Amino acid sequence: MERMVIVIVICCPNALGLAVPFVVAKSTALSAKNGLLIKNRTAFENSRKITTLVFDKTGTLTIGKFEVSKVVSLQNGLSENELIRIASALEQNSEHPIATGILQKVKDLKIQVPATENFNAITGKGVEAIVEGKKVKVVSPGFLKENNIPFPVNFKTDAAETIVFVIIDNALAGYIALSDEIRPESAEAIQELKKNHIKSILLTGDNKNVAATVSNTLGMDSFIAEVLPHQKLEKIKDLQSNGEFVAMTGDGVNDAPALAQADIGIAVGSGSDIAAETAGIILVNSNPKDIVNLILFGKATYRKMVQNLMWATGYNVIALPLAAGVLYNQGIILSPAAGAALMSVSTIVVAINASMLKIKR
Ligand code: ADP
Ligand code: MG
Repeated sequence: MERMVIVIVICCPNALGLAVPFVVAKSTALSAKNGLLIKNRTAFENSRKITTLVFDKTGTLTIGKFEVSKVVSLQNGLSENELIRIASALEQNSEHPIATGILQKVKDLKIQVPATENFNAITGKGVEAIVEGKKVKVVSPGFLKENNIPFPVNFKTDAAETIVFVIIDNALAGYIALSDEIRPESAEAIQELKKNHIKSILLTGDNKNVAATVSNTLGMDSFIAEVLPHQKLEKIKDLQSNGEFVAMTGDGVNDAPALAQADIGIAVGSGSDIAAETAGIILVNSNPKDIVNLILFGKATYRKMVQNLMWATGYNVIALPLAAGVLYNQGIILSPAAGAALMSVSTIVVAINASMLKIKR
């Protein structure tokens, strides 16, 4: 009767049942406090398996706050202010950081933004609409190449600048150069990833010059420029079929398909709602360094779970036979009180171990 009672007491699987939930509770609280919003726990626990991290550029590695640095008109009789005025008409309908930059400039110049008709966003390439009876497009350099529109003669810009061309009634009317700043934490984040043997790849819809500058400045492994949203998705698939465990970080509507395809989708908090909706993890503070924290913390959390399971199992493996009386011949026998104490201790050990989980920063 006594043996039976002790075995049942020991069997009561408190520690075993609580080993993982304790760690989950602690790690959820810690990550939320540190700006990591975990929507998908499996994604978080898998973060220790990441071999390649794909970054979107604008808004992710850079601040995503474009400032107009140059406005150039290519037509006689078309002033620079007139060029940006017409471009701004289209941009008032767009949520792209380029649009915000252009609108800010127009506001600073105290120019009235005209109305548009038939607005259309050309995915990953630009925008088009009718302004004051004219067909206007504001587009990427890639769009010019695709449509065999020659670049202006003597066209030369700063390598770090994003360029958008303004086309009015099918004629190239001018261009606007914008610059964005790399987030101060980005370089450190890439270095940390290197230390942890994780490859970093830049994937952007912006032009090659800008992509190369950002990628080289940060010391990334490679870059792919002028990609359209569906190509971002294809690229993730390619990496996955090469056996990589891929995490994707992005902020834009154009990143959403890639975020969904990646093994782990990480959205930058300052980005669009669709990106946040699709991703498994959100970086509340929009800090790329948090990605490294996330990976290290994912590893630490997993280790704690394994430790706790080992503790709890070990306790049962030893205590159960003892309770059943296997060492009765040697005179070792567990009293019901000792059994109850042991059971509590095992739960306390597991709880203390879980509470020692920390985020390294
Ligand atoms: P990213 O990968 O940097 O987020 P996107 O796919 O959003 O890039 O955009 C790619 C390119 O398309 C931009 O660099 C720009 O040349 C052009 N583009 C996109 N949206 C706009 C817009 N609203 N106005 C002007 N150009 C745009
Ligand atoms: Mg972006």
